[in-house]
Amino acid sequence: MSIATPELQDSAAGALARPMLEVKDLVVRYGRGRKAAAAPAAVDGVSFTIAPGETVGLVGESGSGKSTIGKAILGLQAVSGGSIEYQGQDITRANAAQRRKLGGELRAVFQDPNSSLNPRNTVGASLAEPLRLRGVSAADAREKAQVMLERVGLPREAVDRYPSQFSGGQRQRIAVARALICEPQLVVCDEAVSALDLSTQAQVLNLLADLRDERGLSYLFIAHDISVVQFLAQRVVVLYRGQVMESGPAAAVTESPKHPFTQALVAASPVPRPAEQAERRSVREAMGVRTAASVSAAPGGCPFRQRCPLATELCAAERPALRTVGGSDVACHYA
Ligand code: ADP
Ligand code: MG
Repeated sequence: MSIATPELQDSAAGALARPMLEVKDLVVRYGRGRKAAAAPAAVDGVSFTIAPGETVGLVGESGSGKSTIGKAILGLQAVSGGSIEYQGQDITRANAAQRRKLGGELRAVFQDPNSSLNPRNTVGASLAEPLRLRGVSAADAREKAQVMLERVGLPREAVDRYPSQFSGGQRQRIAVARALICEPQLVVCDEAVSALDLSTQAQVLNLLADLRDERGLSYLFIAHDISVVQFLAQRVVVLYRGQVMESGPAAAVTESPKHPFTQALVAASPVPRPAEQAERRSVREAMGVRTAASVSAAPGGCPFRQRCPLATELCAAERPALRTVGGSDVACHYA
């Protein structure tokens, strides 16, 4: 048995304290030049961290900027402001060579498995590709692909078949296998189970949870449905129009939401029990939250104020800063 030197202990403690990912004041505007400057930011000053082995859920309605944040982290979308650090390394504007190095550690699973599986390639070729890019021999890559397929609940023979020969749920398992085959540290799951029916959704969520626990993975788990996020995430970040409305421990955010928008999101999330569904509908109606379609964006102040039953003049005048309320951070003057 060896005795750790103080330096080693220090660096080990440093590694534990260091987040896997740190997103700080992230701003993303689409378009270029004057057009971009005039457009509202798709992501407007978002900050959060993901610890090693932690799953952070990112929820919000369609168009709230969730995928844009995921793409910025993956280097698929240029960043207008703020920073993204991966294991202490600034990757906000990483060049192609730096991204290639990160490529094995930072992976993604998207809603549509076809985006990572070429329909003309066998499953084996799709799984081998990221390994081959990293210098693994064809024979070893095939063997690893077979092992990985078994791990996600498919037969080894699947390597020689094509994506079209599998169901949607099976294809999503193959996409998970492809994301995990290089043994990444952080996986961005963007609506990874949103296209699946409820029972297949549960199976893939269980698979993602098992793989995380086995390998100590970190996930950024993006979904519009807060009940899906709740299953995997230890912490939840709630987005509205590119801004964080609320963030905190998953149980606090989903069971006692503080922000009126989070309350509406929880009430709107589908549940399999009809009695509970009916109760949620009446809660939703009683809250008096207006639908997204009924209001247009207005600059300044709280982005949610036009839909909010609690809104006052203050909410139009002043964008609420995040403040701590009962264990969560909430951007509301009245929460
Ligand atoms: P979400 O994933 O939460 O549905 P997105 O990140 O896809 O939201 O989109 C956030 C906002 O950015 C939306 O208003 C959307 O219309 C806009 N947007 C997304 N992609 C593009 C793009 N390629 N060009 C211009 N605007 C975009
Ligand atoms: Mg999206």
